Amino acid sequence: MERLGHQYDSVVIGAGLAGLAIALRLKKRGQKVLVLERNPTPGGKLAEYEWEGYRWDRGPSLFTLPEQIDELFRLFDKDPRVYFNYHKTTENCRYFFEDGQQFTFFADPEKRQAELKQHFDKDTLASIEEYIQQADEQYNGIGQLFIDRPKLKLRDFLSAEFLKETPKFMSRQLQGSLNQHNKRHLKDDKLVQLFNRFGTYNGSNAYEMSGIYSMICSLELKDGTYFPRKGMRSIVTSLHQLAIEEGIDFLFNQTNIQLSPKGSSYQCVSNENTWDVVNVVSAIDHLNFYQNILGDNKAVGKYKKQERSTSALVFYWAINKKPSEIGLHNIFFSSDYQKEFNQLFKKKQLADEPTIYIHNSSFINPDDAPNDGQNWFVMVNTPAGLQPNNEQIQSIRQHIIQRLQKQGIDIENHILHQDTWTKEDLEVESGAYLGALYGASSNGKFAPFQRHGNVSKKYRNLYFCGGTVHPGGGIPLVLKSAKIVDQLMTQNQKQ
Ligand SMILES: Cc1cc2nc3c(=O)[nH]c(=O)nc-3n(C[C@H](O)[C@H](O)[C@H](O)COP(=O)(O)OP(=O)(O)OC[C@H]3O[C@@H](n4cnc5c(N)ncnc54)[C@H](O)[C@@H]3O)c2cc1C
Repeated sequence: MERLGHQYDSVVIGAGLAGLAIALRLKKRGQKVLVLERNPTPGGKLAEYEWEGYRWDRGPSLFTLPEQIDELFRLFDKDPRVYFNYHKTTENCRYFFEDGQQFTFFADPEKRQAELKQHFDKDTLASIEEYIQQADEQYNGIGQLFIDRPKLKLRDFLSAEFLKETPKFMSRQLQGSLNQHNKRHLKDDKLVQLFNRFGTYNGSNAYEMSGIYSMICSLELKDGTYFPRKGMRSIVTSLHQLAIEEGIDFLFNQTNIQLSPKGSSYQCVSNENTWDVVNVVSAIDHLNFYQNILGDNKAVGKYKKQERSTSALVFYWAINKKPSEIGLHNIFFSSDYQKEFNQLFKKKQLADEPTIYIHNSSFINPDDAPNDGQNWFVMVNTPAGLQPNNEQIQSIRQHIIQRLQKQGIDIENHILHQDTWTKEDLEVESGAYLGALYGASSNGKFAPFQRHGNVSKKYRNLYFCGGTVHPGGGIPLVLKSAKIVDQLMTQNQKQ
């Protein structure tokens, strides 16, 4: 493959976090790498928005396992702190319940217990710590078997390593749903709701997904949460800077990339350029890749059948007020969580009373809003494939304002400016099929085994990374997917 006199070993399609991470890893292996991106800038869902002294991260706001970003700088013997820095946050999340009860969760067990003892009895407090401990053990045992390596094959199930963990796979935890698991282990309905919400971290339904996903909370509650000093967007800008310094080539505004198999390689046509290339990495939604880049309708048909994870409606509000109740991450729960998820997944309609997530980065990064204001990212889950109309958006906005009012937070006349991100924006701006945040949902016992893998079984030297493939969506898993692709490509080249 040639561009400007350069030979390329690999082409990466998509310059989101996954595309940046895999491009860097392949470069470290000595490859010449070209990244083709449809948008004018890198980052995908890690986009940014500004208005008159306010700054918002458009997508992700919860940052865990920052050492995975550092690792990419260290690959090149660079000091990550020169490029990218972050705070460890003292509190994880403020929870607000329908009956007015409010408490904060801290990652530090002593602080957590001190806060929660005002709300729960001794047995309940003990059940929380046992739950988190067990989640952590699951993550470090069974979790590692899944997420730090390629998708399991049948023969892997017979390996000694796997057989050691087999009893856990046979447990009630895997057989039942996350909600059932939480109900068995936690002695309070509010805690069940709180821990059910971790199911939304991969856009799924706690009442349908396996109890094994109870391990999701361990990253946040054991290791803690972090926030970049210059916002989530700085993850992208710093990695892109590193990639440029290391000589990775990027072409932006590549709006019509087409790939066709040609013997043991591919012909890649993008805008006015044509290249021959051996290795291709799709770092975009895999359905989007099969549909628009490779034109494999059989694969489209197969993966379309899988239920999608949730989409989202996000409001970006410039608030000219500083309500002290609002921390960095805040959840306002609905009164009937099961009904909400039934509406989102079974009825595929907007929830009458959606749970609300508010992220206010100015709590920790004062530069993100003027002194007398806050920059709110306000998100509700919506079904994949459903574009809310203006009336529905207005009605959700009103619901949010009233829900906050109920909690004593009056912002009705304090929203100076609003922008939104909807299912359609997610489709157009990041290529997310049906606007689903994390590709296929994790609902159902076999969902982890049905996720798209990191290497094609059908096409030679075709790899997949990013939030819609194994091991899953969200920043930590997206970065792991790039690491897995790097390992797979290295193994394939040795064979
Ligand atoms: C509202 C929202 C909130 C979220 N919150 C969190 C959170 O708090 N914590 C967390 O860890 N994760 C969160 N996530 C998920 C996280 O953002 C994603 O899992 C992650 O950013 C996905 O990275 P990616 O590189 O796989 O995909 P993307 O970021 O989607 O990047 C894909 C790139 O490919 C490009 N592309 C698409 N189609 C084509 C094409 N045909 N040709 C060329 N280029 C193409 C896109 O333009 C884009 O740049 C959130 C996501 C959203 C939308």
